[in-house]
This record gives sequence, C-alpha cells and structure tokens, in this order.
Amino acid sequence: MSEDFYDVLGVGPDASAEEIKQAYREKATEYHPDVSDDPNAEEKFKKIQKAKKVLTDEDKRSAYDRMGHDRYEQAEKHGYDASGGGMGGDPFGGMGGGGMGGGGMGGGLGDIFEQVFGGGGGRGRRRPRSGRDLRTNIEIDLEEAFEGAEKQFTVERPERCDACDGEGHPPSADAETCPECQGRGQVTQVQQTPLGRVQQTTTCSRCEGDGTLYSETCSECRGEGYVRNEATLTVEVPPGIQDGQTLRMEREGAPSPEGGANGDLLIDIIVRDHEQFERDGDDLRYRLPISFPQATFGDTVSVPTLDGTVEFDVPTGTQSGEIFRLEGKGMPRLRGRGQGDLFVKVQIVTPKTLNEEQREALEAFAEAGGDEIEVAEGFFEKIKRAF
Ligand SMILES: [Zn+2]
Ligand SMILES: [Zn+2]
Repeated sequence: MSEDFYDVLGVGPDASAEEIKQAYREKATEYHPDVSDDPNAEEKFKKIQKAKKVLTDEDKRSAYDRMGHDRYEQAEKHGYDASGGGMGGDPFGGMGGGGMGGGGMGGGLGDIFEQVFGGGGGRGRRRPRSGRDLRTNIEIDLEEAFEGAEKQFTVERPERCDACDGEGHPPSADAETCPECQGRGQVTQVQQTPLGRVQQTTTCSRCEGDGTLYSETCSECRGEGYVRNEATLTVEVPPGIQDGQTLRMEREGAPSPEGGANGDLLIDIIVRDHEQFERDGDDLRYRLPISFPQATFGDTVSVPTLDGTVEFDVPTGTQSGEIFRLEGKGMPRLRGRGQGDLFVKVQIVTPKTLNEEQREALEAFAEAGGDEIEVAEGFFEKIKRAF
C-alpha cells in the first residue's frame, strides 16, 4: 500500500467528500484488525484512518494537495498547523508566530526530546516483531470433552509466499539501492527548532525501510510476501475442557512481517449441549423419571453416565425432586485428578391415562387413606435444592 492518502483509500485526487467517506467505510471494514487476517491489518487500518481524517477535513485536504504527502507529514509531525493558518504554504518557512499551537506542541517536542535523549531506538536495534495471533473455534461433543479428543480442523491464514520466499519480489528481479536513502532504509533531516538544530530520522518512504528497490514485484502475493492458505491442523483437546475455554497452538498464527516468530493460533472451544446431561463445572446433572410405585417401594434402575450405564438403587419412599449424588461419575477435572459428581434428580411421572384395572386400584388406594398427605420433617429441605 502506497503511503499517499488517496492511494490508501483507493480514490482519485478529484474524489468527492462522499466518495472518500464511502471508500473509507469499505477499507476500514476490510482491514479492521478484529476481522482482517492480513498480517499488516493494524498498520493498514491506522493509515486508512489517518487518510480519512486528513481528506475529509477541507482545510487539511487542501494543505495536503498543496504540499504533497511527504512535506505534509513532516509538517504535521512537527506540530505545525498544516492546514495553513499563519504559516502560509511553507511549513518550514519560519518559526516565529503561532506555528506551534495546541496539541502540536506536545507531539513536536516529544519527537525532539526523543532525538535529543536518544529514546527512539534505531532500526535493527530492536527485536523483530512476532506475527499476529489468529483466532478460530471448534465445536466438540460433551463425550469428547469427557474423553479428550484429537480434533482436525482447517483454518485460513496468511502464510509465507512460496513463489518469492516471502521477499515480495521474484529472485530474478533486479535490485537497486534505494536512491532516496542510499540503502540505509532511513532518512535523516536536520531541522531548526526552538531547541536548536536537531536531527530527525525517519523510515524511508520510498523503499519502506528496505534500503533496496526491485524491478518486479511477485505476482503471487502482489509484493506482500504472504498469501492466504487453508491449513489443516490437529489439536489435542484435553479431557475436562469446558465450553468457552481457549487452547493455544504456538507459532501457528500469522507470520511476522519482519522475519520474527509466527504468532500463535488461539482456538476457542465450544462444547455442544448434551441431550441427557447438563454440565455444571466438573459436575453433571441428570433427571431420572420414575413411577409412583417405584418411588414408593424403591427399585433398582439404570442411570446413564458418560462412562456407561450404572445401576442405581432408588430408596423406598423417594420424593419427586429428591437429588442423589453419584460420586466420581461427572466430568474429569481438567489437567487434574479425579472426576466431578453426577447429580441425579428424581422426577415422579404422574400417569396421564389409566386403564380400568389401574383406575380401580388407585381409587381403592385413595379410599384406604392414600389421598392423605403426610409431610415428614425435613421434607422440603431434602428437595429444595435447585437443579
Ligand atoms: Zn510472493
Ligand atoms: Zn529508501
């Protein structure tokens, strides 16, 4: 992407304010760092914002048109009022008067102090930045969360361009030392400021700090050095993982634009709801339907778990809503020992229809005093636990 604000937004120099705003919306959507997988999205997004800010301000735009990109940027960097004001057309014409105003003061002096006290840090002294982290998600079943799983998935991500080995130009391209910076990648300007003469060093805009210009750009990646590829990866999902947790695959993210390490790939885990079990951390909940006679007389019933069926003794006189705990029959604890519990909530199913025989039997039961309710002490205590 060229630095020129019109190029950044992809509009012509005669674009109307409306066209500029429209182009900004499109570009901003494309390069928003939260949605774009472009390894340089953040940088591009900043350029797009900057371009829009200048080109949608009438005064700034006319100053920009008058001065051209480089001089405008210089002027703004030093806190001069680039939109004109008392400075006329030449931001470096003189320091008298109100050239450095308001917010410009901070920015301008900040740059100067960095120079004077050596804060800036030159190219080559700092470590190359890592690539961006990328993010994706995968869905698993509760059974997979219980046992752990090896999940294969595909992710679209930027990868180093094979055609040019990430260089952005074919190996056959002619190299030429950048005439702007003599191959240093930086340009130094001496400027007169209120604190005296200072040197201002910036990245060369012609070669973007590379120091070299090439006769061709790579047609595969249009000079970016990266192409988008669909990668198939396998991730180890540990037993006990919970919905919403994130796994990290190191160095599987975007490549570094500066030759540093790749970013990481973050994988958000979505655990699908289960038909039978509700999960609460490491515990599981299950609703067990039983009949009135089973609850009255007690019975041995089968209860499903994620580890196969177990036998459960329903005690005599079990109440609807009573909860029983099957220890260690819940989910495994993530990277820990043991398992949570399975809570079984009993639900007595009242018959909706009865055959003749059943009706008579129940009527006889009611007449024999069976319709009198006797609530034992602690009854509500026992069943009040919400579930
Ligand atoms: Zn390439
Ligand atoms: Zn250069």
